[in-house]
Amino acid sequence: MSMISNHPDTSLLADYVSGQLDELTALMVATHVDLCPHCQQQCAALEAHQAALWLNEPAATSADAELEQMLGAILAAEPAVAKTATKVPAHSPIILGEQRFEVPRALQRFTSRVKPWRRFGSKIWQSRLEFGDRHLQLLFMDQQGSVPQHTHKGREITLVLHGGFEDESGEYRMGDFVLRDGSHRHTPVAAHESCLCIALTEAPLHFTSGLGRLLNPIAHWLG
Ligand SMILES: [Zn+2]
Repeated sequence: MSMISNHPDTSLLADYVSGQLDELTALMVATHVDLCPHCQQQCAALEAHQAALWLNEPAATSADAELEQMLGAILAAEPAVAKTATKVPAHSPIILGEQRFEVPRALQRFTSRVKPWRRFGSKIWQSRLEFGDRHLQLLFMDQQGSVPQHTHKGREITLVLHGGFEDESGEYRMGDFVLRDGSHRHTPVAAHESCLCIALTEAPLHFTSGLGRLLNPIAHWLG
């Protein structure tokens, strides 16, 4: 039923359910899972599978300790979801000018961290959610807005929160989770509707063509 066609791969979901991801990657996955019934099922199946594996391991002191640790990680992961359900007000949208964007539950408790928006040209706005010395990037493209062609020097995860965009590889809609590495070069365009994305990048964008190259001096800030 879901329109989402890009999901975290199984190994990333497995690391997520066993609590092995860093907190920002985990938040990106959790936000996708909130939007995606398919991955909710996958996570439930992975948890059941992992629990069964651990329970069937031959009893040994170290295995027991490991099992305890792993179950602990799963149990510790659950309250994070429960906490957002109980403590977060029903509406903690991301606000950009007159626009209010409802966000998945996993993200709602962090929307107060959104920094003031900055604008590029007439169609692109950028902000970030800060977490200590790391951050997630927010990007809003008005309809027909486009980001100049660029590559990434490290891994980049992009999640579409509203609307959609397209690039050389395809079309992406609300809920789509796109993981790219540094070898990928792309030009995102919000061709049919406006688009709000959240992204986790490991390194600044590197613009590869035309006018975009002029943006390289500020790319450290865009990333
Ligand atoms: Zn999914």
